[in-house]
Amino acid sequence: MSDDKFSAYLSPQQLIEIDACTRCGECLQFCPIQDVTGRPSISPPEKIRVFREFIRATEGLKASLFGSKVIDKQLLEDFTKAVFECTTCGACGQHCTVGIFTQRLWPVLRKEMVRRGIGPIGEQAKMPDAIATHGNPYNKPASERFYPWMPEGIEIVERAHLAYYAGCTGAYSAQPMVRGDVMVLSALGEPFTMLSAKEEVCCGFPLFISGQHDMLGGLVKRLVDAYLAKGVKTLICSCPCCLNIMTKDWPIYYGKPIPFNIRHITQHVAEAIKAGSLRLSEGLQERIIYHDPCYLSRGVGVIEEPRFILRSIPGIKLIEFQRYGKESRCCGAGGAARKVFQENANAMGRQTIDEAVKKQADRLILSCPACYAQVNEAMKGHPNKIVITDIMELLSYRIMVK
Ligand code: SF4
Ligand code: SF4
Repeated sequence: MSDDKFSAYLSPQQLIEIDACTRCGECLQFCPIQDVTGRPSISPPEKIRVFREFIRATEGLKASLFGSKVIDKQLLEDFTKAVFECTTCGACGQHCTVGIFTQRLWPVLRKEMVRRGIGPIGEQAKMPDAIATHGNPYNKPASERFYPWMPEGIEIVERAHLAYYAGCTGAYSAQPMVRGDVMVLSALGEPFTMLSAKEEVCCGFPLFISGQHDMLGGLVKRLVDAYLAKGVKTLICSCPCCLNIMTKDWPIYYGKPIPFNIRHITQHVAEAIKAGSLRLSEGLQERIIYHDPCYLSRGVGVIEEPRFILRSIPGIKLIEFQRYGKESRCCGAGGAARKVFQENANAMGRQTIDEAVKKQADRLILSCPACYAQVNEAMKGHPNKIVITDIMELLSYRIMVK
């Protein structure tokens, strides 16, 4: 790999994508970050154009004939900010008229800017050290990973075919959600195992998405080998970002296919309800609106399972956002951007709340810890209020019977 090549990390497909953007503008109306900031420089076609210019100026035909240009430092910094301010929600790619897979493209552009020492931004730069020291990007003690939320009486066996991975965001920032997860898994009756609080380190997604890839191989190997040592055949997680990196990128960093299945908890529980392993008795007379997390719907296509679970609850009327499923609108939580660009994230979260309130929903259901933490954060000081509940939290506390 030549050190000065902007295209160094791009796959052949992504090189074509960078050239393919026609600037048709179709994606603009779906970009939440462009919407809340109103800045065209942050738009998908503009980011693609600027990066294409970087490539052309340094390694295109002109560059080979007349020599490579030095790119202006301010331009590099402005581009880096734009590409890190994006939530990587992927809505632009979903609507792209030429099929550019942006949810995968943006992280590669971030990785390039990290290699050049311009990214990441602010708090994001502290994540590798925090993960190396404590196993999580929040710099919280590993000893606190499980104990504040793990309910008493939940049996976690030493070895089992089924394992549950809580994940850092769930464990430290969305505790009602992970508590609900283990309560539902426990009610299903199949023995399940977990790694210890020290062994269960970050899945690598925050590093992947912020372009800081150096530690990924070590984290993945450590986790996969630990689950294999426990005889695991199916690993369950509830964080869509964990699920994305586990299913798409773990095999790359592990160097071969992951020798067990990895599933989102809604897939596992929907199947259990269909098989009659989970009886939902007590109803809930409410209008419920479900927000599809970007990395669950667009990322891995889990759309129907959460809805099946919610429709299984007697009395519930499930209503939809104007944009749902693969079209879902980002709540502001994604792309490791919410801690750095908090105002943007809150503005997006408030749009989610406002639409839910306008549709007269009694409750907003989420199925992602980052969404859970962010939408709750966005509601602080916001005049519109709605009850926010994670999908497993809803099952565990209100209507589930063993
Ligand atoms: S990924 Fe989402 S926030 Fe980023 S440019 Fe595309 S639509 Fe906008
Ligand atoms: S929809 Fe695709 S081709 Fe059109 S401007 Fe957006 S990224 Fe470019």
